Amino acid sequence: MTAPPKSLARPLSSQAAREKNAEERIRSLLWRYQPEFVLAGSLEILFTRNSSTLVSLSQRKGHGTLRLHVLFSSAPAGVLEDVIRFCFTCKDQAQSKILRSRILDYVGENRNQAIATVARPACYAPEGSIYDLEEILWHVIREYVPERRLKRTRPNIGWSKRATTELMGKWIETPREEANIIVINRLLDDERVPSYYIEYIVYHELLHDLFSISRSHGRWVKHSPEFQTREKTHPLYARAREWETRKLHSLSTSENAAK
Ligand SMILES: [Zn+2]
Repeated sequence: MTAPPKSLARPLSSQAAREKNAEERIRSLLWRYQPEFVLAGSLEILFTRNSSTLVSLSQRKGHGTLRLHVLFSSAPAGVLEDVIRFCFTCKDQAQSKILRSRILDYVGENRNQAIATVARPACYAPEGSIYDLEEILWHVIREYVPERRLKRTRPNIGWSKRATTELMGKWIETPREEANIIVINRLLDDERVPSYYIEYIVYHELLHDLFSISRSHGRWVKHSPEFQTREKTHPLYARAREWETRKLHSLSTSENAAK
């Protein structure tokens, strides 16, 4: 039996097609606003999933790299135009502020979409070799976040695929109809980690469900004063933070050494 011939020109995935289309639109806008730049050097346009820097331009000797969050791949022309003006042509502070604010408004309105395009974790298993996160989640909801039980959907929870030395937990917001996701760093699935510390991390991530992200002075605020006040009401908060300061480091170093 012969294998079916492989097509050389594979169709682009819909996301790749969106990115390609946006790139073309950006390049034609550049011709309009900044033809010297297009003529003088080369510009690389990259779509990233970096959600802390949504737009950035680095330039060196006529070579530039424009990095945009994937969210901009489906942005309307007006938004792309704001991005181009913000990065390439705007020298005036007041104007720059207006452009920045309009760009952030677009991001704010499309946050769910941005989040949905973040590499969707297919499934993270909650059972570790030491701790079962599902069990911990239930416990934390029951004991410390009773109002969470009123909501119909419960977040999914699981261990990250790899242990890393940063970010012990992560809250992933998904579009409205799907359950949000809590990912806990696999580094913590270790008998040297006290259960109250994992509980605290799960609790922290769960609070993100109650206190949604907001924007203040042009920045995204994840841990608002209200969030922090509530966080500190956890009876083991101080102990967990103390363990984190004193012991987490040794866990990370031995993890590094084992590699
Ligand atoms: Zn947080």
